[in-house]
Amino acid sequence: MVQPINWPDVKVYVAGHNGLVGSAIVRALESAGVGEVVGWRSSELDLTDRDATMDAITEARPDVVIDAAAKVGGIMANSTYPVEFLKDNVLIQTNVMDAAHAIDIDRLLFLGSSCIYPRHATQPIRESSLMTGPLEPTNQAYAMAKISGIFYIEAHRTEYGRHWISAMPTNLYGPKDNFDLETSHVLPAFIRRFHEAKTSGAATVTVWGTGAPRREFLHVDDLAQACLMLLQTYDSPETINVGWGDDLPIRELAETVASVVGYAGDIEWDTSKPDGMPRKLLDTSRINALGWQPTIKLRDGLTSTYEWFVENVA
Ligand code: GDP
Repeated sequence: MVQPINWPDVKVYVAGHNGLVGSAIVRALESAGVGEVVGWRSSELDLTDRDATMDAITEARPDVVIDAAAKVGGIMANSTYPVEFLKDNVLIQTNVMDAAHAIDIDRLLFLGSSCIYPRHATQPIRESSLMTGPLEPTNQAYAMAKISGIFYIEAHRTEYGRHWISAMPTNLYGPKDNFDLETSHVLPAFIRRFHEAKTSGAATVTVWGTGAPRREFLHVDDLAQACLMLLQTYDSPETINVGWGDDLPIRELAETVASVVGYAGDIEWDTSKPDGMPRKLLDTSRINALGWQPTIKLRDGLTSTYEWFVENVA
């Protein structure tokens, strides 16, 4: 058993604190009364720069590190820029973990993604499926980087006895998501496409693929609660899944987002665009057994995320 963390007594470094995931973790830490949060925007600290990262983290001397920093993107960005998705993510996670090791951090949480699992993994996907088959080609550069991060965590546990852990969230959404149509994931892309069509009065919105793949969506505030709970209780070399527990076809997601946004026109499917993984539903029995359950239903989370988009992006 690890020593429980008394949040008011600790200084937490959240790598990626201004992003979709990191900002949700900061909100959760603040609600838990955390002593101090440190973080730098990418314009202040480039985490691929090893010397700068080592200097900043060793000088800040946090007690706990949460690595929510990554170069992320949807299916097109991922498959178009495999060099950057592999290289930047390996550099970011290695630099953050090496700096944490240099200052003897004992509690570190590394976040990955459900795309680490094989394309044909048995559904729902258990943690034990890792490395049992080939990856989905459209996101394998990102997946390879995240898999090496999981092993780097395990290596620090084995070689140095660190209580470091990793968790693999499903597809996430919420405030501060990336709504850029070229690089975003499907859910924010649908919010933007349907909002713009409603505003301009367009009769048709064209989206990608066949609509048949199934995806699971978890609100980032649910993930953030899971992260705090895991840091308090989880101490195993095996990564742990964090998901909603159910999925839906992309076609149904499109209809739901259209209805939340208030777009009543047609939806066309551009089947020249890739579908990606047919299904990636996580088996969450291990984290559920630790007492964590998600609470934000998709329609409610979509409604609040759409409000955030209208106020901050549109
Ligand atoms: P994935 O979960 O790694 O495959 O990444 P995405 O969230 O980018 O895509 C999920 C699914 O949504 C894929 O089948 C895409 O083809 C489909 N999709 C449909 N329309 C869009 C869109 O406008 N943007 C994105 N990113 N995906 C879309």
